[in-house]
Amino acid sequence: MREWESVIGLEVHLQLKTGTKVWCGCSADYDNADANTHTCPICLGHPGALPKLNKKVVEYAVKAALALNCNINKESSFDRKNYFYPDTPKNYQITQFDKSYAEKGFLEFKLNSGRMVKVGITKVQIEEDAAKSIHAEHESLINFNRASIPLIEIISDPDMRSSEEAYEYLNTLKTVIKYTGVSDVSMELGSLRCDANISVMEKGATKFGTRVEVKNLNSFKAVARAIDYEIGRQIETIENGGKIDQETRLWDEESQTTKVMRSKEQAMDYRYFPEPDLLKLVITDEQIEKIRETMPESKAEKMERFLKDYELPEYDANLLCDSMELADYFEEAVKVSKNSKTCANFIITEVMRVLKDQNITIESFMITPAHLGKIISLIDNGTISSKIAKEVFEIKLNDERDPEVIVKEKGMVQVADSSLIESMVDEVIANNPKMVEDYKNSDEGRKPRVLKGLMGQVMKLSKGKANPTLVTEIMTKKLS
Ligand SMILES: [Zn+2]
Repeated sequence: MREWESVIGLEVHLQLKTGTKVWCGCSADYDNADANTHTCPICLGHPGALPKLNKKVVEYAVKAALALNCNINKESSFDRKNYFYPDTPKNYQITQFDKSYAEKGFLEFKLNSGRMVKVGITKVQIEEDAAKSIHAEHESLINFNRASIPLIEIISDPDMRSSEEAYEYLNTLKTVIKYTGVSDVSMELGSLRCDANISVMEKGATKFGTRVEVKNLNSFKAVARAIDYEIGRQIETIENGGKIDQETRLWDEESQTTKVMRSKEQAMDYRYFPEPDLLKLVITDEQIEKIRETMPESKAEKMERFLKDYELPEYDANLLCDSMELADYFEEAVKVSKNSKTCANFIITEVMRVLKDQNITIESFMITPAHLGKIISLIDNGTISSKIAKEVFEIKLNDERDPEVIVKEKGMVQVADSSLIESMVDEVIANNPKMVEDYKNSDEGRKPRVLKGLMGQVMKLSKGKANPTLVTEIMTKKLS
């Protein structure tokens, strides 16, 4: 049996949410506007129209590159990538081919097994998006609102060895960039796109095999599945005496396979040459420092703050900080409840369960953080038990009113009236002579267990509303 190793590199395109396009002042909001309304002679590629680099694009691109641990090049330049396609009005794309603005970065992440992986980032370049083609049944339409939306392309080193590593690399990249606020990083919205370069070689070999590029990947899961499929296909081809062609393939979601898009013979010759209409891009140390100072808190920094300020266990802090929105939700809830530990527990168990069941994110979760904080305050000030709190939580999923109003209306307030609890304890003792007998005959080791059973009866009788501390106190006194 020959043993194989796979080699994977990823190319990720991210749209920067700068508000305006990269070479002109047109609005970069392309989905919420009528088609072809956010256009001008520059982004439509009219002859004689000159591009002018958007300052904010540079700022956002530098923020992203710093978050990816890259070196920022003081001087870089733009090039033309020539190809004729209806979605490219100039018949070329302006990109950075020879010298990009950032290079030599890395991302580090932990796999499920606990193993740390470090993936190098070859370079990051600034470029422009193409227009959007819409293929209908009898016609093809083009929306130029998307033409010249700013993009950065993040090219990784071929450092990944499995689909799991590629999947985690993408998740980490998404979180890291999301924290910078420069992109929505959403594959669903089209602001993140990914192509994968995949090859296989015999284990221990030093020379990589022929690589295949896979496009048309529309989710992180699809990236992982396409990689697994390609690795299998390539190994099978070689073991059967065939050879791998350098080609571009498309992932087909329906058949869960990749299909040839173009082979090496048809490979595009882009005839790159320096863009004569744009000056060199110069970024000074002062500019880099200024941008660094405006960088928002990173995930690692937020984690550290959560461990220190809220005294959360590392596991909880990591789960909460994985999504910036979830971390914000937690902090808002703590502001109201002043109880970080219960808030974290409630979010991790109850809130995250609902998010998973309903397949939604925290942004569309129906309970506001202030109301969740209020439910927790109601436990802490003795108004409701934690068991009742879970019931209030379930009601709140379909009820926008203040938790306090719900608790009052449904008569859920905890019973802390000792004479009322005493009468319930008496009732339970009278109705469970066997358990009482058992308690009296038990040794100290067994006693607490029997007591718990009896207490459970009182809680049941009170419909979960009896104050558990009082019940224990009264029950123990009555039994001794
Ligand atoms: Zn324009």
